[in-house]
Order: sequence, then C-alpha cells, then structure tokens
Amino acid sequence: MRDLTRSNAHFRKALTRLPLGVASTFRYWGEDRTIYVARGKGGRVWDIDGNRYVDYRLGYGPAILGYADDRVDAATRQGMDIGGVFALSTEREYEVADRICRMVPGMDLVRFSNSGTEAVMSALRLARAHTGRDEYLLVEGGYHGLFDAALWMADVEGWDPRSNRDPEVVSYSRGVPLSLRALAHLVPMNDMQRLEDTFARHGDRLAAMVIEPIQGNCCAISARRDYVQLARRLCDRHGVLLIIDEVKTGFRVARGGVQSLLGVVPDIATFAKAMGNGYPIAAIAGREEVMRSFAYGKAAHGGTYTAHSVSLAAAAETLRILDETTALADLAAYGERLQGGIAAILDSRGIVHSFSGHPSMFGVFFAAAPPDNYRAWKTSDYSFYDRMARHLQDNGIICEPDSREPLFMCAAHDADCLADTLKAFGRAVDLTLDETGQDAARMAARD
Ligand code: PMP
Repeated sequence: MRDLTRSNAHFRKALTRLPLGVASTFRYWGEDRTIYVARGKGGRVWDIDGNRYVDYRLGYGPAILGYADDRVDAATRQGMDIGGVFALSTEREYEVADRICRMVPGMDLVRFSNSGTEAVMSALRLARAHTGRDEYLLVEGGYHGLFDAALWMADVEGWDPRSNRDPEVVSYSRGVPLSLRALAHLVPMNDMQRLEDTFARHGDRLAAMVIEPIQGNCCAISARRDYVQLARRLCDRHGVLLIIDEVKTGFRVARGGVQSLLGVVPDIATFAKAMGNGYPIAAIAGREEVMRSFAYGKAAHGGTYTAHSVSLAAAAETLRILDETTALADLAAYGERLQGGIAAILDSRGIVHSFSGHPSMFGVFFAAAPPDNYRAWKTSDYSFYDRMARHLQDNGIICEPDSREPLFMCAAHDADCLADTLKAFGRAVDLTLDETGQDAARMAARD
C-alpha cells in the first residue's frame, strides 16, 4: 500500500487557502486520496511522498511526448528569450499555423488561444457571427470546456432507461443562467434518425453542431463514420457550421486528428492539449471563408496571453516532432500492447471486456462490446471499473477514478512502464474481484 502521509498533511494545509485544497476541482480525489505531485518525467510522475506512478491521465491528455520532454523544454527556453507577450505579433505564429494547416486536411487558417475552453468558445462565437444564428447542437456525453454555452448536458445518471423519455438537459454547474438553455439542443450519438429529425425541426436556427467524434470525457465512446458524414451533409443542407472538437483527439489519434480518420472536413476545428505537450496553447482552425469572419465588426477574438512566446515555441517543436517522427505510431503501438496485456489478464479470469476509442486513448468496458453512446454507458457495468481504479492508483498507476475518462498513452511510455502497469493491473483486478465477492457474500448473508 502506498503511503500518502505528506500529501494528506499538505491537503489539510492547502484547504486553508484553496477551495477543496486544489487549483482545479477535478484534482480533488477525497480527503485522504488527493495527491500532490513533486515532478513528472516521461510517462511517470512522483508524488511528494515519493510514490512513483505510471501516468495514463497525462494531465487529461497534453503530455503526448511525455512530461518534461528535453526537446520541447529546450525550445521553450529559447521561447523565453523572446520575451513573452507584447500585444503584438511574432513571426513564429505563421510557422505554427502553417504546420497545422499542412497536418490537418481542409484547414486553411488558424487563430490561437490558451486553453481548450477558450478555443471552443471562440469557435462557437465565430459560427454564430458567421451564420447570424444563436442556437447550436451538442452531442450527449461530449465535453467542451467550462464556458456557459458548453455547460449543458444530458442527465444520464439521473435518467431511467426504461422511461421512454430523453434524459433531462441540465447544467454542469450552478451559476449558468437558465435562460441560456433554450439555445442548446442535445442529441444521442450515433442515432441517425434522431439527428435527421433534429435538423428537420431546428436546423434553420442552428449556428453550429459541435461534436467530439471520440468522446475524450466519456469513455472514448466513438461516433461511427456514417454518423459524422451524415452530420456533415445535414450541416451543409441547413447552412449550419460543423465544429469538430479535437481538443483531446487532435495531434494524438492521427497527425490530421480524428476528422482525418473519418474522412470528414469540418468548417471549424478546435485543438489544444497535445499541440504544446503541456504548455498552455490552443488553436481554432477552419476553412477560409469562415475564418475570415474573425475581423473587426465581425467575430471578436484575441486575448492578452494569446500566442505567448513560450507556448508558441512549445507548439512549434511538439508539432514538428509529431509530424516528422514516428511518435504517434509508436504511442499507438504501445496502446495496442497495453490492450493486449489487459485482455490477457481479464481473459485469464474469465472477465468479459472490450475497448473503445483509439489505441492512443481508450476506454475499458466490462461488456462484450463498448457502448455507442452515453445512454448505453448507463446500462454497462461501470462499478467494477470505478473500484478497480482505486486499486490501480494504490498500486502505482494514475488513472481517473471515474470510468468516463479514458486512458491516455504518450511516446515516453516504454517497456518498463508496460511491465509495471500489467503487474499492477493483475493485482487491481484480483483485489476488485475479492471485494465484489465479499460484497456478494455479505448480501447473501443479509438475505
Ligand atoms: N474540449 C474537449 C474535448 C476537452 O476534452 C476539454 C478538456 N478536457 C476541453 C474542450 C476544455 O479544455 P481546457 O480544459 O483546456 O479548457
């Protein structure tokens, strides 16, 4: 069992100055399980108690090359010498924009932002400005950041699948004005008929459809190719802009993102995470006619820290490596080896399972096939995963405590990481089986 004495003590101190003792609410894992990181290198992190972990969260995806990559960090030191931000432009913006347009098919122009939230917020504003419409369509289970328009979700957890009704649309957070709800429409992923019906009813009032074809915050549940292609056709028919949110998938599942795997070109795409290997930078890219609406008198876009010289240097070097080396193929191959190892462990214990997403970011399911939308997740057995995740953490593996966050691979995950992971995985599965067996015995004794 790992020792968290120092993390626990620091948690109590941090609570006196930081709500929940953390800087981002998702980092709070409970009073005695919230850990504080000392450092990260490659595919591993060390907490302040000296526990070493193989990390499959990677900061929710950014560390695509691994933490503290020497090449990227050397580039950022050089970026520091440039001087930060000037409320003026630098030459490197063109270099990075050009690289993105060459890597992602159909993208003509680029603007930068600092985070995924900012990028998607700008993309939606651009779509509204360009179309002159306010309403928009989201896909259940998607996550697009912490801005009001993106904070509407289907309450699948509180929904009864036998009810014959849609899950209620609720906000992720208090403080989101209820008056905004009428602008957001939600559809279940991969339901073609439902998509057609929704466009027939609301299509002429929609500015955009926003979709994450591999849901990076919902078990890597994946859109079928024909579904996204239908979305493309319906958007064209109704004058709606298709926004593909590649904040998690971009520069990860392929050089050209998930859109290139699906053969669909959106009007606007948003990128963040992997493009800077952890430095804060994001991008909004799209086709020329739409992107030219970022202009005076049209869609507003900007920001003091936009295209900071350190982040831009990180992006230039990260994208160069992803474009010019085999890093993406290597980390996907690692993901396949990990899936193979996990499958062998589960098979040997007779546990039915499947994988969703892409080898570079995948979910593990305890069912013969993965769900194809968020509603179907509700009927899958995720309690086994949620229990197992705690044992994985106790045994040196960082994964989200909630099954909806997929596992992320990086180019620095190596044979040692794989061996440590599979050892921990076997132990975590057995501990979970013991626990579930004990629960069953207790239930039987009670009956
Ligand atoms: N879009 C997607 C698909 C995301 O996964 C996230 C973050 N997890 C965001 C947008 C928001 O990005 P950020 O946290 O950088 O604001």
